[in-house]
Amino acid sequence: MPTADSATPRSVVVIGAGLAGARTVAALRTHGFEGPVTLLGDEGVPPYDRPPLSKELFTRSEPAWLADELGADVTSLADTRLAARATRLEVHDAGVHVTTDDGDVQADAVVIAVGSRAVSPWPTALTLHSAADADRLRDRLRPGSRLVIVGAGWVGAEVAGVAAARDVDVTVVEAAATPLARQLGDIGVRTVPWYSDAGVSLRLATPVLDVDAGGVTTAAGRLDADTVLAAVGARPATAWLGLDLTADGRVPVDAAGRWLSDAPWETRRRVWAVGDCAARPHPVFGAVPGGHWSSALTDPEASVLEMLGRSQTRPTTPYVFSRQLGHDLAFFGVRHGDEDVVVRPLASGWAALYLMPEDGPRRVLRAAVVADSPRDVVGLRRLLGRPGAVEVDLDRAVDPGVRWRDLAP
Ligand SMILES: Cc1cc2nc3c(=O)[nH]c(=O)nc-3n(C[C@H](O)[C@H](O)[C@H](O)COP(=O)(O)OP(=O)(O)OC[C@H]3O[C@@H](n4cnc5c(N)ncnc54)[C@H](O)[C@@H]3O)c2cc1C
Repeated sequence: MPTADSATPRSVVVIGAGLAGARTVAALRTHGFEGPVTLLGDEGVPPYDRPPLSKELFTRSEPAWLADELGADVTSLADTRLAARATRLEVHDAGVHVTTDDGDVQADAVVIAVGSRAVSPWPTALTLHSAADADRLRDRLRPGSRLVIVGAGWVGAEVAGVAAARDVDVTVVEAAATPLARQLGDIGVRTVPWYSDAGVSLRLATPVLDVDAGGVTTAAGRLDADTVLAAVGARPATAWLGLDLTADGRVPVDAAGRWLSDAPWETRRRVWAVGDCAARPHPVFGAVPGGHWSSALTDPEASVLEMLGRSQTRPTTPYVFSRQLGHDLAFFGVRHGDEDVVVRPLASGWAALYLMPEDGPRRVLRAAVVADSPRDVVGLRRLLGRPGAVEVDLDRAVDPGVRWRDLAP
């Protein structure tokens, strides 16, 4: 049991029953917290994993429950209310007060784990963020039906591949000049052939002007559709919190997940944020915006240890994986957009390295993506997991004969 000093909470409310919320509850109990824990969810179902929603849209009729994936049913570890949307948070010197659709909760500390919600600019378009969304989309996609997906990002590409494999007639419309432009920059062009190989029609540099019940109006003309999926990103579900947020709507936190604000310490120490809704600094990669499954998985434990007075901040390298159109992508680090990019051919697949724009034969590696080579994912993960900035030798970076660990001294 943790020492009950004045900074250690005696009760905790966790808002959001997704991966980060579930991991927070599990970590509290694993590390001996015996006080009351309340877990508030708003989807009406126990915590589940989101990545399979797109990748296994047709092969899974029910969600990948985290109780199975994590090996522990966190709903039994906390007072769990799965249909209790939090609508108001008050934080003061003596504790926190959360108003929900299903009664109020008071606690010594709050962990905000509300994740994000799909951006939905057009009322008639479907989105894919929740298990309920996946059910709706699956029901609509019959072989031979026409699906237009707006957005060639991670989710758009993943759904395009699995839907085309079910003989759905799929068109992906993207405003940028390449798929995955926001995620990979120009290197996203390497995924263009994947679309035609998978039987998907891809329209690049084609902004969507409007979506209605019968299809999509683009700058280049009309596309009729039976179903339109808006896959244009997600926004943190934080607007209701009433806290000062980052420009992209996330809760600013320190490396341990504690709220960063001008509020007095007595207030500030009561508020934590984890997962997609938090902007957490990394000693090497700087501010890491949420949106990384790996952060939602690993960051809550570090926050819980700090909360319980056992500081143990272990920065994790931001990591996103994707299975799309029959290919695997693994992205590590944080891309700022101004990097010099070099491509490293691999025995199978390829990698691209995003290097700090500077002169000289050695460059700081900010991010990297590996396509279709699990073995190289392991090497890259180890390289970027080293403490401190990793400086790679430019000549060696593009030489597939040099092992990942030998790219940097
Ligand atoms: C279709 C899809 C595929 C993905 N694939 C990948 C992938 O391949 N690789 C990868 O790295 N990442 C992927 N992601 C992203 C990944 O799933 C997220 O990074 C991860 O789920 C974040 O977990 P979280 O717990 O922070 O947020 P979430 O999973 O969003 O969970 C937050 C929970 O809080 C609830 N909530 C929100 N507001 C309130 C409120 N006011 N009161 C109560 N509850 C509230 C939400 O309903 C939700 O249940 C994917 C996401 C989607 C949607």
